[in-house]
Amino acid sequence: MKIALIAHDKKKEDMIHIANLYKNTLKHHEIYATGTTGALVIKHTNLAITCLKSGPLGGDQQIGSMIADSQLDLVIFLRDPLTSQPHEPDVSALLRLCDVTNTPLATNIASAHIMLTALSRKEIKCKKISKKKE
Ligand code: PGA
Repeated sequence: MKIALIAHDKKKEDMIHIANLYKNTLKHHEIYATGTTGALVIKHTNLAITCLKSGPLGGDQQIGSMIADSQLDLVIFLRDPLTSQPHEPDVSALLRLCDVTNTPLATNIASAHIMLTALSRKEIKCKKISKKKE
């Protein structure tokens, strides 16, 4: 499965924590991440991750483009709703595209735990198999 990781600055510690916790599951999947999030997770977990541009420089849009093409099976996007983001339109667009394409999305550490637990139990199937025909 293809999984994207994105974390706003105040949530990066949470992303590192959760990536460490589910490292043995994540290592079997193809991971993409926005630049800073990806670099930090690689540093702390040694997972193989394809790092895109940093969020404010277009990384959210790069991930959005993958979602629009139905290339991603799961998105973990740890958002910080209490801090204004300079690239808020890109953030909103990415969330919207997940809903347009029925891509599973976790926006906080609690839902990320649930999705990664399901993934580790092989309860989440590749979207291309499980998605209904439209
Ligand atoms: P970053 O981008 O991982 O490069 O910090 C995340 C974001 O701000 O959306």
